Amino acid sequence: MKKDDIISFGSTIPIATRFDTNEDWRFERPVWNQEKCIQCGVCFLSCPDGAIHENDEGYYEADLQYCKGCGVCIQQCWTGCITLEPTVERPPWLIK
Ligand code: SF4
Ligand code: SF4
Repeated sequence: MKKDDIISFGSTIPIATRFDTNEDWRFERPVWNQEKCIQCGVCFLSCPDGAIHENDEGYYEADLQYCKGCGVCIQQCWTGCITLEPTVERPPWLIK
């Protein structure tokens, strides 16, 4: 998403006028630490968007086209192996 794709509502609320996937507006993404993961699948079951899938090695990861960065998987993972990390230094609506 480019800066031109953002308009402001009432000069304070940014609104994206065009996006193709959630990657165009989400500015944080979940990252898995496989060393702590016990492959229980709780994160997979808890994602409200069905954005998590099991990979060939039996670990879990998000499809970032559909992940909204809500953090539910992070709250539900009881071994604490998922963290939210920034995808951009500054959200597009803060770029001057
Ligand atoms: S909930 Fe945590 S420990 Fe369980 S599969 Fe998901 S990331 Fe691994
Ligand atoms: S951050 Fe939210 S949308 Fe993304 S994978 Fe986790 S639960 Fe699903």
